Amino acid sequence: MKRRDFLKGAAVVGAATAGASALAAPAIAQGKRELKMVTTWPKNFPGLGTGAERLAKRITDGTDGQLTVKVFAAGELVPPFESFDAVSNGTADLYHAAEYYWQGKSKGFNFFAAVPFGLTASEHAAWIYHGGGQELWDELSSKFNIKPFMAGNTGVQMGGWFNKEVNSLEDYKGLKIRMPGLGGEVLRRIGAAAVSLPGGEIFPSLQSGAIDATEWVGPWNDLAFGFYKVTKYYYYPGFHEPGTALSSGMNMKVWESLSKSQQGAVKNAMAAENDYTWAEFNARNNNALDTLLKKHNVKLKKFSNDVLQAIGAASGDVVKEAGATDDLTKKIYASFIQHRKQSIAWSKLSDQAFANARLLPFKY
Ligand code: CA
Repeated sequence: MKRRDFLKGAAVVGAATAGASALAAPAIAQGKRELKMVTTWPKNFPGLGTGAERLAKRITDGTDGQLTVKVFAAGELVPPFESFDAVSNGTADLYHAAEYYWQGKSKGFNFFAAVPFGLTASEHAAWIYHGGGQELWDELSSKFNIKPFMAGNTGVQMGGWFNKEVNSLEDYKGLKIRMPGLGGEVLRRIGAAAVSLPGGEIFPSLQSGAIDATEWVGPWNDLAFGFYKVTKYYYYPGFHEPGTALSSGMNMKVWESLSKSQQGAVKNAMAAENDYTWAEFNARNNNALDTLLKKHNVKLKKFSNDVLQAIGAASGDVVKEAGATDDLTKKIYASFIQHRKQSIAWSKLSDQAFANARLLPFKY
């Protein structure tokens, strides 16, 4: 952050808290700064916008107000998909988003959100925290003057909302579906016309018939957008986003200007919000699914194994191609694939084996 912006930010804090800009000087003396957080989400959108607000509060509280974080919803300061550039060039200080939105900068960013048939939330956290993921992410984001953190996870997403049944690959031919990132590319390979739209534009597009189908997140978020009012077929599983990490990136100069204790408070806030958001998605999806099925008569459908097999094969190709686009992305891809291989072997004996065992028809 430039000195000029720093002074401007401090003046805003002084004016807002004391109602007199004359108090700006003492505020600077105390080292108080206001940081602008831009997001890719509508204001207070469940889980995403509210997670960003909670993260801001954690940083503010954790530094005793030395760093006061003000949140800007999508479009308030910059358009949603320009959040990355805004933080990179210092227009904003940090963002709350999902990294695949930046795949136009480098395909490597996809691996730090989710890729089709990739990692679950717990496998992803294992890679980032303990499998070399964070170091690779730091290397990638530092090229753009950004320090990245995990800041939430949606868990396994749903496959999406369709205005007709999709029983075979034929049903995907020409289907106009909203699916961003590599998932969208996978569907294009099997003949669909996939488009990327920010959250706030999905419902109107579905209603007008501009798109026939959409994915968003899961029952909780999808209920909030009201997709059930236009489409009734709700498919699972969300092969394209098996555990999407939400993230927050801070302008590198801002990060480096923080004291050790402020950096510690920011890191702790990120880690705490990462877990809290992840748990909240699981809790709220349970209730929202009941509401969708019982109150709104949504028809739940599972993708056929034939469809999943074909999409899985296309996913392998698309992810491999994305992973070969430049030298750093090749390193990221190699690390990710190695971790995925080990995760499949362990998950098969742990989470997957247990979840299957729990479905046996015993009385409990
Ligand atoms: Ca999604």
